[in-house]
Formats: sequence, C-alpha cells, structure tokens
Amino acid sequence: MFAWRDDDAGLVRAFTDRHDGVSSPPFAGLNLGAHVGDDPQAVATNRVRLEEALGLATIWADQVHGSEVVHVTQELLDGPRTGTGAVGVGDAMVTDLPGLALGVLVADCTPVLVHDEDGALIGVAHAGRPGMVAGVALHLVEAMRDLGAVRLRATVGPSVCGRCYEVPDEMRSAAALVAPVSAAVTWTGTPAIDVASGVVDQLQGAGVPVQWVPGCAREDDALYSYRRDGRTGRFAGILGRAS
Ligand SMILES: [Zn+2]
Repeated sequence: MFAWRDDDAGLVRAFTDRHDGVSSPPFAGLNLGAHVGDDPQAVATNRVRLEEALGLATIWADQVHGSEVVHVTQELLDGPRTGTGAVGVGDAMVTDLPGLALGVLVADCTPVLVHDEDGALIGVAHAGRPGMVAGVALHLVEAMRDLGAVRLRATVGPSVCGRCYEVPDEMRSAAALVAPVSAAVTWTGTPAIDVASGVVDQLQGAGVPVQWVPGCAREDDALYSYRRDGRTGRFAGILGRAS
C-alpha cells in the first residue's frame, strides 16, 4: 500500500503505491483517483483501505493543474462534497485540524507534503508541469506562513523523472524561465523537463528544507504513470496529524 511511510510524533507522511487495492485493469490495484473512469465502488473501497491503514480520514480536493490553496476548515468539512468526494477545487490544501489527513493524487506529477515543525499546520500540493510553473508549492508555503507557520519542512515524493518526461524544446525553455534547474534531457537525448527538481528548488529557495523520497513513476511499475500507460489510476501523497 505504501511506497514510503514515516510516522513521527503523530505526524504521518506517506506515498502510496498500487499494491493492496481492488481496482481492475487498466486501473489495477490501489487506484485512489475518482476522476479517471474507474469503478466508483472500487475507488471507494481503496480509499477506505487507505484510511484504515492510516487510522485517519483523508481529505481530497479536485485538482485542476492550478495554484489555488484550499483552506480546510471544519466549516468546509461540514459542507457539501463534489462529485468525486472532494471538499473543493484546488491543487493545494492546508489545515490546522487534527485527526485527519490531506491527500493529493498523482500519476507522474510531483506530490508535495509540508508541515510546520512547531505547530499543527499541515499542507499538501500537486505539482505537475503547469503547477510548478504557476508556483503551487510556493503558494502553499506562503499560505502556511500567513497562518503562522515558522519552521516549515517539505517532503517531496516519487514522480516522473527528468529522463522520462520528453517535451518540445519551447516547453522546456518556458519552464526553465521559472525554474532553470528543470531543464533536462531524456534517456534518448531529447528535450525534457524535470518538474520535481524545479519544485525542490522552489521550496529550498523559499527557505524550506526538503526531504526528497526517490523514485520515478514511469520506471517503477508499482506506481501509476500517465506517461507510461495513458489511461490509468492515481497514487497519492498523504500528510496527516493524529492529534
Ligand atoms: Zn524516469
């Protein structure tokens, strides 16, 4: 279920994989994405299994490759959910509510987890190429600091690597204007973007230390990869606080 998980003093950080789920091909395994065409009942079962393993209810937002940060309050949780079970629309979420987890869905995009070492604030972001260019991770950091966070720490999970993400040269150049370190080359020597490197550089540049969990979604069959498979499921970055 977990490609990587760390529990420390009530804080749970995790990245899921395809194992231990009930979805059928092409979503086979623990698909947590409710927007990809999978059987809704299978996704619901997978999400319950995840929550049981975490011991925490998990909150999702409808991601749109933007940079909006959803503030998850009790009022929002008590309100209506979207068709996918999400609390709202946005590519990042922040909360100070204990006893729940925030999740972001990815299949090549970069999952980002950010927590305040001194407080209760936790936040997550989904950063694909458009999100990295739009600075979604930076918007999350800014939102958390506005809410009083002082010592932020980030955890960046597996995503498609720079060698596996071929793009037109103009697209690489455009991304490099925002994050020069993202300019990459594929295994065959063509232009590529290393989105995760760009995100890590953005976080470090904002004064946030990063723990980077290694892995390439396209090269690891245990992870969902849109670039490898097209129609497929989503794995998740999860950040929760038990109390
Ligand atoms: Zn790769």
